[in-house]
Parts: sequence; structure tokens; C-alpha cells
Amino acid sequence: MPKPDVIPQNRYDAWMNDNDFDQQHVWHPYSALHSELPTYIVESAQGVRLTLSDGRELIDGMASWWCMIHGYNHPAMNAALEKQLHKMAHVMFGGLTHGPAVALARQLIDITPQPLQTVFFSDSGSVAVEVAMKMAIQYWHSKKKPQRQRFIALRSGYHGDTFGAMSVCDPVTGMHSLFKNILPQQIFVDQPACRFGEPCSQDDIASLETALETHHQQVAAVILEPIVQGAGGMWFYSAEYLKKVRDLCDAHGVLLIADEIATGFGRSGKLFACEHAEITPDILCLGKALTGGYLTLAATLTTEDVASSLGRGNPGVFMHGPTFMANPLACTAAMTSIELLLGSDWQNNIQRIETQLKTGLASCSGFEQVRDVRVLGAIAVVEMKQAVNMSTITQAFVEAGVWVRPFGKLVYLMPPYIISDEDLSTLTRTVTRIVETH
Ligand SMILES: *Cc1c(COP(=O)(O)O)cnc(C)c1O
Repeated sequence: MPKPDVIPQNRYDAWMNDNDFDQQHVWHPYSALHSELPTYIVESAQGVRLTLSDGRELIDGMASWWCMIHGYNHPAMNAALEKQLHKMAHVMFGGLTHGPAVALARQLIDITPQPLQTVFFSDSGSVAVEVAMKMAIQYWHSKKKPQRQRFIALRSGYHGDTFGAMSVCDPVTGMHSLFKNILPQQIFVDQPACRFGEPCSQDDIASLETALETHHQQVAAVILEPIVQGAGGMWFYSAEYLKKVRDLCDAHGVLLIADEIATGFGRSGKLFACEHAEITPDILCLGKALTGGYLTLAATLTTEDVASSLGRGNPGVFMHGPTFMANPLACTAAMTSIELLLGSDWQNNIQRIETQLKTGLASCSGFEQVRDVRVLGAIAVVEMKQAVNMSTITQAFVEAGVWVRPFGKLVYLMPPYIISDEDLSTLTRTVTRIVETH
């Protein structure tokens, strides 16, 4: 008899390094099976370094898509999770609650703008967006305006891959045009042309103004990524634009949903990107770096007004409840990650990364094949004139010892915040060299 604390007959070890099996049977994000594009097996990760199964080490320039802000295998994160693991890994959230959920909710309410007073936990960013949209619709339903069911979204926005979220992604760059006939038809306005740090003219806001004037009777909310548009184009826009959006929403009595799934927790230089414009959304979506990249968790915060109005409507409850809602391990990871962030000199650190990204990538703007170079906080983007060849460019990066995964025309960096000056300069030097020769 095997001892009960041992996994019986561990056949998995032999299967772990089977990259061929992966290519034939395992789906990856936005990819096909049997693809020619290589995937690399990561054996372990420590700090900012990924170790591949063949022993090569790569400096991570992506923070695993905005998430891994404190780096991999962090001792404090590990210790907190181990402690929680011995109490309980999971428990249902219907009719029950637990310490990590209550404490994390309190912390999130504390660090976000004052009017946001309630927290709905879910498993992923896309679901947090679905929840935000459903909240907005149910809010208007309870306000006896059930016709307010549509959303205004910005072109070049990205909000996730589920149906509601897809409907507010850019209809072209949002990667979902294939599904457009079965998605709810939302209202799209121009991407703000005014850059971050620049003023926003009447022209820049005109498209949104017109949309609100024309459609506000049918609109539940405006949804946007504040300041930084992520996967839809990696664009940084004027804080004045965001201020004007808030004013227009107020003037037309429309809710504002801020999707800070990518920007939250310091990435743009402020704890939340809304702070650049000193505005408060009615509904706020968080995800990605929420757990320091350790586990999947997202949160949708809203105001007392939205929450209690919704409760007074019919059916008087909010119609959503994920199975793994507020998973205790994930909540523990989030609490620990936030403590680590707030306990560090994160503002100066992001400033350090921003300055180094700017100087390190400055020469890229002189290259013939580069259209634009932009940096904000711990995010750097080199926009090419043509789409890059994913297969050859990723391979070139791996051979150079860094992990950078471009998409389309965009080569970008958003490293873990703990990255050293030296590793950061390896990243920018490598990007500069590879962009120049591609
Ligand atoms: C990544 C992202 C999402 C979707 O989050 P998932 O966890 O991938 O579902 C939504 N909005 C923004 C702004 C994102 O960057």
C-alpha cells in the first residue's frame, strides 16, 4: 500500500519534457495546434529568470503578461501560501466566507478611491469585465431604465476573451472580428489621439461626446482602460482625456467602468492609472498583478450607490457566482503581494525603471523600421512599421537570453519590478539590437 501522503506511481515525471506532445495536443493562447511556432518548456523560475528544460536561463521582460511584479519564487509569497495551504486550499463562497477574502476586500477598498466600497471576486480578468457589465445593466434595471443595456468603448481597447468582454474590444485590433455577428453591438468611439503628458483638445473628445449625445438613453456605461490601452495597441493617452470622459459620463448620467486589469498595482507609475487623472470610476476591474502573478484572481469593485440600487431592484440579487469565487489561496497571494508592494519604495522604483527604459531604448526611434518608441512607468513599447516575424524574432530573443514576446507591430517590455539595473540594461540592449536587425 502506498502511503497516503505520496502520489501513487508517479508517471508524470517522464511526460513532463515532451514538447512534441504539447505541440500536438495542448492549446496555447491565440495559437493553433500542430503549429510551426516553437514553445519553450520552463522548468523553474527565480527572481526575473526563467530556466528552460535544457538549462538555458532567460531574463523575463514580460512579467508573465503584467502579472509577476515581485518576480518568481518569492520567499514571502511562498511562505504565506504555504501557511494558508495548511489551513485550507479552497472552500465554497456561497453561504460561507473566510479571513483571506474579508481581509483582502478591506485592503482593496482602502487602496482604491474612496467611493468604491464593495468587492466582487472572480477568477480571471475577462470574468471581472463580464461582472462589471452585468452590474451596470442590473443597476439601470433597478433604476427603471432597462433600455440602458449598451456600452460605449474605445477603439484599440482590449477587455478580454469572453463574449461580453469581446463585444467591447476593438472590433478590428481586438482580435474578435470573426465573432462580430453574434456579439452584442456596442458603440465604438475614436481612440484618444492625444498622447500621455499632452493636453486633450475638443477634437480629441468629440467622438465620445457625439456618441453620448446620440445614444445616452441606451447606454449603461462607458468602459475603457484608463491611460494605458494594453493588448489592443499598447497606447498611452492623455490624462485630460480621461478627466473629460468622467465629466461627460456625469453630464449624461452614464456609469464609467475602468478596466485596470493591466494597469493596476503600480505599472503606470501610479498605484492605479485613474490617479493620473484624479478620477474615480463607478466600477473598477482588477486582475493580472493582483496576486503578484501567483494565482488566478480578479476583482470588480463598485460604489455603495451601485451596489445598494442593484439590491433594491428585481430580483434583488446580483446574478453571478463563480465556483472558485474568492479562492483562499488566491486571496492570500493577493494580500501578500499588495503588502510587499506597499511596503517597498515602489514609486521611486517604477521611476527608476521608467528612466532606464527611456534611455536604454532611445536609439530605437532613429531606426528606419521603427514608427514610435514610448515609455510610461514600467512599460516600454517599440512600435514597428511592419508586423514582426514572430517565429524568428522570438527565437532571436531566446538565443540572446531574454524572454520578450512581441505581437503584431509591437515589441514591448514590462519587466518584474524587482529587476536590477544590469538585467534591465541587458533587456533594452537586446531589444535595440534585435529591432535594428529585423
Ligand atoms: C488581460 C486583460 C483582460 C483579460 O484578463 P484575463 O485574465 O486574460 O481574462 C482584460 N482587460 C485588460 C485590460 C487586460 O489587460
